[in-house]
Amino acid sequence: MANLYRDTIAQLEAVEPYLDAPKDIIEQLKYPKNFIQKTLTVRMDDGLTRKFQAFRSQHNDARGPFKGGIRYHPQVSEDEIKALSMLMTWKCAVVGIPFGGAKGGVVVDPKMLSGGELERLSRAYMRSFAPYFGAWKDIPAPDVNTNAQIMAWMVDEFQKVQSAKGERQSDGANPYAVVTGKPVELGGSLGREEATGLGGSIILEKVAEKLKLCRQNTTVAVQGFGNVGYWFAYFANKAGFKVVAAADSKGAVCVPRGLNPKLTLVCKEKSGRIADCYCVGSVCDIQHGKTITNDEFLNLDVDILVPAALEGVIHKANAASVRAKAIIEMANGPVTPEADVVLRRRGIVLVPDILSNSGGVTTSYFEWSQNLSGYYWKKELVFERLREVMDSAFDRVWKISEERKVDLRTAVYILAVQRVVDVLRLRSG
Ligand code: NAD
Repeated sequence: MANLYRDTIAQLEAVEPYLDAPKDIIEQLKYPKNFIQKTLTVRMDDGLTRKFQAFRSQHNDARGPFKGGIRYHPQVSEDEIKALSMLMTWKCAVVGIPFGGAKGGVVVDPKMLSGGELERLSRAYMRSFAPYFGAWKDIPAPDVNTNAQIMAWMVDEFQKVQSAKGERQSDGANPYAVVTGKPVELGGSLGREEATGLGGSIILEKVAEKLKLCRQNTTVAVQGFGNVGYWFAYFANKAGFKVVAAADSKGAVCVPRGLNPKLTLVCKEKSGRIADCYCVGSVCDIQHGKTITNDEFLNLDVDILVPAALEGVIHKANAASVRAKAIIEMANGPVTPEADVVLRRRGIVLVPDILSNSGGVTTSYFEWSQNLSGYYWKKELVFERLREVMDSAFDRVWKISEERKVDLRTAVYILAVQRVVDVLRLRSG
């Protein structure tokens, strides 16, 4: 059975021969520095209490405070959280932001909770883990099934814990800097909503440049039309690329002459699914195309395929039929390790998730930085600085890939792990 933690350690071991790294440091990086497990007790609406398993894995803080989201999901496990915390260390390192890696989780199906129960669960999480969080210690954020509202409850609860102890934050920092992904009214950053998709579309521009593709003729298929997929399609279209296909969980459409992401979203919100937007109703954006299945979608003859929905969608059984020249991984882990081998053999360029979807955590860094300074940026400045970070990370990765004659995934890991190792070595030396 697949085990993300095992795969993540295997990836670290695979890159070891390319690194200038002592064995003991690599060994140390296979495990989180701290793993905290708590049982949360939450009062339910019927007056009874229920217990929930909750975790926080703090993988590494050599380059800055631990950083990573908190997910609510029935399948959350210790191994998954450990693996995701390690991936956060690499993600922050590859884009060069001064954070380490962490991840939190609660074993719960949030769809089964009322609003009040969700709030009490989120506050209980923060009360239990507050001693481990802090603007210079560990900074949580939203992840699967958590959002800005949940972050707002958590910031509020953190402040309550601090004042109950009669303390201000010992470092005197703005308490908002303890959590990112907050609502803008509570210290969140402008542009955070668009950031992951925009970051990916900047990577698309870089890939097109390297592959010498002219934007107007470059066809792009985006799987997933949620936060990441929609904004990716929006900015790709704005940059002049031709978004010819889009998919959500209920179906897909293919429009060879290109679709308008904004109108498609209006239609999807009205009708409930992208497939219904194919020439239906007055806001119908999608003409001159056809509806297709999600399987057909992955086999489309496009230049760039962008999985922005789920993990594991490109696997051993379908990797051979992918026809795109390049894949930009926007979801976390959309290509399995077995499929990765097939795609590499076939010469398909693949930009890995920890680089291409790092626009979100980069903007979390901007949010934290704005909270600490008390100076808030215009959206244009957020976008401009995001572009600088993504551009420079991509250029470094591409250079490593050329110089060391390795694929982009290996190059990303070489850059990220070496950056962490260098700091650990300086500290211990
Ligand atoms: P979302 O819930 O907003 O959207 C998910 C989209 O995927 C929806 O449109 C849904 O209909 C679609 N989908 C679900 N199953 C599908 C299927 N079988 N085929 C086609 N489409 C399907 O989620 P999101 O925030 O856009 O996140 C998408 C992915 O990106 C996840 O893997 C997430 O972990 C990752 N990610 C998100 C962020 C972020 O800032 N939101 C940052 C980094 C990584």
